[in-house]
Amino acid sequence: MVNVGILGATGMVGQRFIELLGDHPDFEITALTASMRSAGKKYEDAVTWYLDSKIPEVARDITVVDTDPGEVKDVDIVFSALPANIAAVVEPQFAEAGMIVASNASAMRMEPDVPLVIPEVNPEHLELVEMQQKNRGWDGFIVTNPNCSTIALTMTLKPLYDNYDLQRVYVSTMQAVSGAGYDGVPSMAIVDNLVPFIGEEEEKMETETLQLLGDLEEGNLNPASFGVSASCHRVAVLDGHTEAVFIQMEEDFQVEDVEETFREFKGLPQKLDLFSAPAAPIIVREEDNRPQPRMDRNAERGMAVSVGRVRKDEVFAKCLKYVLVGHNTIRGAAGASILNAELITEIM
Ligand code: NAP
Repeated sequence: MVNVGILGATGMVGQRFIELLGDHPDFEITALTASMRSAGKKYEDAVTWYLDSKIPEVARDITVVDTDPGEVKDVDIVFSALPANIAAVVEPQFAEAGMIVASNASAMRMEPDVPLVIPEVNPEHLELVEMQQKNRGWDGFIVTNPNCSTIALTMTLKPLYDNYDLQRVYVSTMQAVSGAGYDGVPSMAIVDNLVPFIGEEEEKMETETLQLLGDLEEGNLNPASFGVSASCHRVAVLDGHTEAVFIQMEEDFQVEDVEETFREFKGLPQKLDLFSAPAAPIIVREEDNRPQPRMDRNAERGMAVSVGRVRKDEVFAKCLKYVLVGHNTIRGAAGASILNAELITEIM
C-alpha cells in the first residue's frame, strides 16, 4: 500500500478525497491536514461532513494536523484540496520534503515545469516532472489537474481535436454550487436565482484547455492554436457542472461520426485498467432531455462525462453543438487527482 495524505481534508474537495480513498486498493489514508482551526481535532470532530455517504472508518479517528510537511510523517503522496493562495506556499514545501503532490489547486497549474494533466488526454506531459525536479532541486514533485469545468470540456474536445480541425470553441457553463466550496455561495444569493460570474473561471477554461491539448517539444509546451471563449455561470444545482458547447469546425461533418468518435474514445487509464478509470470516459445520451446533472453526474462513479444533444447548428455552417455534464468534485477535482496519482504510480 502507498501511504497518502490529504491537504485541506475538511473542505468540499477534501471530503471527496476521503470518500473516494476510503476503500482504495492501493492507497491508504494516513494523514489529514487543514487550517489551524481544525488542527489537533479528530477528523470526525473537525469536519462538517456534507456528503451522502458516511465518513470512512479509516479517517474518523485520524488527528488533523496543521498543513506543514514537518507534521506529515511517512507519506508518499499528498492530495491537495487547499485554497490556491495557501497551495502556492505549501505545495512546494511538500515537494521539497520529498513527497509527490497531486494538486487540485490552481496555484501551480501554469508553471512551465509543472504538468497539468488529464490522464486520458495528455499523460505524456508527465515528462515535465524530470525538468521540475532538476530546476528546483526537489526529491518530490507537483502534478496538477485542471479546473472542474475545463476537465469535462477537454475530455470531450480531445477526440474531436484528434479527428477534426477545430477553429473556435464557445462554451457556456451552468456550474454547481459545490464548485465554490462549503462556504462559497450564500443561499440568499443562489436560491431562485443564478449568478452570471465566477471569478477567474473563464480565463482558466480559455488557457488550461489549450495547454492540455498542446504538444510538448524538448521541455517546451506549445498550446493548441484554436480559440476558446467561455462564459461561466453559477446555478442552483448541488453537484454536477453542465456546459453548452459550440464548435466552429474547418470542414463539414456528420453528427453520427462525431457521436461515434465520442463513444470510441479511450485513453491510457483505460488501457492500463487503472482503478478509478471509467470504462467509457464519454457517455453519449440519445434522449433530447439528457444529460442532466441530477441524473448523469454519477455516471461511472462520477468519473465519466455525459454528452447529449449532439447536433449541427441550423444557422451557422460547419458548427457542431452539444451539451455535457461532469461531476465537478469527482471527475472535476478529487477523482481527477486520484487518477493522476494512479497513473504516476503505474508508469513512473
Ligand atoms: P473549501 O471547501 O473551502 O475547503 C478548503 C480547505 O482548505 C479546508 O480543509 C480548510 O480547512 C483548508 N484551509 C483553509 N485555509 C487554510 C490555511 N490557511 N491553511 C491550511 N488549510 C487551510 O474549498 P474546496 O471547494 O474544497 O476547494 C479546494 C481547492 O480545490 C481550491 O483550490 C479549489 O479552487 C479547488 N477545486 C475545487 C473544485 C470544486 O468543485 N469544489 C473543483 C476543482 C478544484 P478548515 O476546515 O480548517 O478551514
